Amino acid sequence: MATIFSKIAAGEIPSYKIAEDDRFYAFLDINPLAKGHTLVIPRQETDYLFELDDQLLADMMVFSKKVALAIEKAIPCKRIGVAVLGLEVPHAHIHLVPLNAESDISFSKPKLQLPNEEMGAIAEKIRSGF
Ligand code: AMP
Repeated sequence: MATIFSKIAAGEIPSYKIAEDDRFYAFLDINPLAKGHTLVIPRQETDYLFELDDQLLADMMVFSKKVALAIEKAIPCKRIGVAVLGLEVPHAHIHLVPLNAESDISFSKPKLQLPNEEMGAIAEKIRSGF
């Protein structure tokens, strides 16, 4: 059965798209830790990031770098933090989180709930710098 993230990458479930190519898709996390919190996924359905083959994993990191640089241009932050959890959605993904403080990437703190218009505006701003 297709994962929710496969359906997002296929456009069957809506998302705040940041960037895509034939192998990867980036979109805003719906419950962000910080404004601009983005997920990067491979279109290939694999649960665990470290089960991806070496080349795909390396290319995914390069794709994530491009996304991170676009986030940095759009969101005031010191740098972009990177995390891999995968405890909730069984489709490999990398979290890119704008950081001003270490606590900005604490997954145990309450998530933000931003209005649709703000999520759309954030996505548009990041997309335009990609
Ligand atoms: P984890 O699998 O533990 O890395 O967490 C999955 C992440 O995906 C969480 O941060 C969720 O907020 C996020 N998430 C789950 N469903 C969606 C969705 N439909 N659109 C965007 N982000 C999502």
